[in-house]
Amino acid sequence: MKFSEMPYTRPDYAAAAKELDSLTARLRGAASAQEQVGLYKEYETLLSHLSTQATLCSIRHTVDTRDAFYEEENNYNDEQAPLLEEKLQPFRQALLASPYRAELEESLGKLLFQNMELEEKAFSPEIVPLMQEENRLANEYQKLYASAQIPFMGKTVTVAQLGPYKESTDRATRRAALEAEGSFFDENREQFDELFDKLVKNRTQQAKALGFESFVELGAIRRMRNCYTPADVASFRDQVVRDLVPLTVKIKERQAKRLGIAWEDFTFTDNALSYKDGSATPQGTPEEILAAGKKMYEELSPETRDFIHLMFDNELFDVLAKDGKAPGGYCTSLPDYQCPFIFSNFNGTSGDVDVLTHEAGHAFADFIASQTVAVRALSCPTMEGAETHSMSMEFLTAPWHHLFFGELTDKYELSHAEDALLFIPYGCLVDHFQEEVYRHPEMTPEERNQKWLELEGRYRPYINFDGLPFYGRGAGWQRQLHIYLYPFYYIDYCLAQVMSLQFYALSLEDREKAWEKYMAFVRQGGTKTFVDLAHSVDLRSPIDQGCVKDVCQAAFQWTEGHLVE
Ligand code: ZN
Repeated sequence: MKFSEMPYTRPDYAAAAKELDSLTARLRGAASAQEQVGLYKEYETLLSHLSTQATLCSIRHTVDTRDAFYEEENNYNDEQAPLLEEKLQPFRQALLASPYRAELEESLGKLLFQNMELEEKAFSPEIVPLMQEENRLANEYQKLYASAQIPFMGKTVTVAQLGPYKESTDRATRRAALEAEGSFFDENREQFDELFDKLVKNRTQQAKALGFESFVELGAIRRMRNCYTPADVASFRDQVVRDLVPLTVKIKERQAKRLGIAWEDFTFTDNALSYKDGSATPQGTPEEILAAGKKMYEELSPETRDFIHLMFDNELFDVLAKDGKAPGGYCTSLPDYQCPFIFSNFNGTSGDVDVLTHEAGHAFADFIASQTVAVRALSCPTMEGAETHSMSMEFLTAPWHHLFFGELTDKYELSHAEDALLFIPYGCLVDHFQEEVYRHPEMTPEERNQKWLELEGRYRPYINFDGLPFYGRGAGWQRQLHIYLYPFYYIDYCLAQVMSLQFYALSLEDREKAWEKYMAFVRQGGTKTFVDLAHSVDLRSPIDQGCVKDVCQAAFQWTEGHLVE
């Protein structure tokens, strides 16, 4: 069905609650494992309906945040969904305590039960009001961010629309773009600070209510860390500082040289410009870029061909930048229709192509899992696994990138690999910052900014903010929406980036073998933990000692052999 024809009706939460009560009662009284499996499937079907309606609403809300109807519906769903948690919990508990547990694990998957045990630790009915407030605060942040009407060079632009100017070949324009962006955040400084402060206190309160020392532990569980601990994450970050940060400094020195800027004059103003005559940008109109994406997936494999036809035939893309649209990009899923949906803000930079490779990588995995994984709760892995799908697709589509970049393709490939390496320390910085913030919830906004600057020195020692507004005072993290909306998400990207570099190295050796391995990874959906998924296709887990060093060193060497001026 076409997206525009999918009907939205406000979910009847009261009826759903009643149905969940009845399912729980029947589960408790069930006389066999088989009967319980049947009830579990009914439970998944019910959740699938609710999730499809709430997602339809939230997509339409982000497509136009000014639409009052979907705004109100979205607020309503955000308020009601946590209330339903109270009804999900007894069902889960009954399932976990089932006398047929061994048979259920056999039939539905052991991991489903491990994950449910984690979910149990992350929820208690008393935190529902806090969860509702958390949702409201996160929405306020999104609204504030999207409200930006920034005067720039005679136009009014959004934060996303400033993107291309930060890569301008004219230094004064780059600087002006950063200043314009900074002044929006500076003008709304109090609101951004206050919203974050409230979120930190709220999340800390939730953690304490559940018996955790801080939100660091609860945050890890909310992200379903079922195969490594916060200490493992810290050790991964240490490896990055030791083995990768020195390489990123070399990458930045190379960039300065390419730009003809002396190393001591290279500042944050020059950070986003890769080449003297401009970053590699996609050639053609947004419509032509979309068409190139279609051709790419038609040729890549039979599976991707079926996938891309589904996406185009059903209007499952909303990627052009428009006023009122929420920032960022995402891929989500409409389970009742067994199809994904991709949202973005095209702005004429290589980021537009990333949407067609990265977000489409998520969507493709969703499409495949809907055919290969019977239990919906195990169709998608934890997010490092899911980001492995998308970040690897960025590299596995390399033979088709010329469709987007033409003669600029070599430039794109080099900066894409460089960006992958540069991203990992940045992602660790975001993660480390959040750990500090949630371990010390009493920090003032000023102390948080100071901490950010201190950690910048550890993870991006090459950066000189050169007196820029907003960035210079250490508040640059406030434009990173994950910090407000999805705490501790960033490390998932870092782990996945290391995975994607392994797939890339393989594909440079043998493209078909790499694609086979990738498909073997994707077909398993979320039926294994992230570490087990990696090992199941003979890749190393990024957490393993030495993995960061070997994988990143190899990628760095590839860049050394493919330098472009
Ligand atoms: Zn992603």
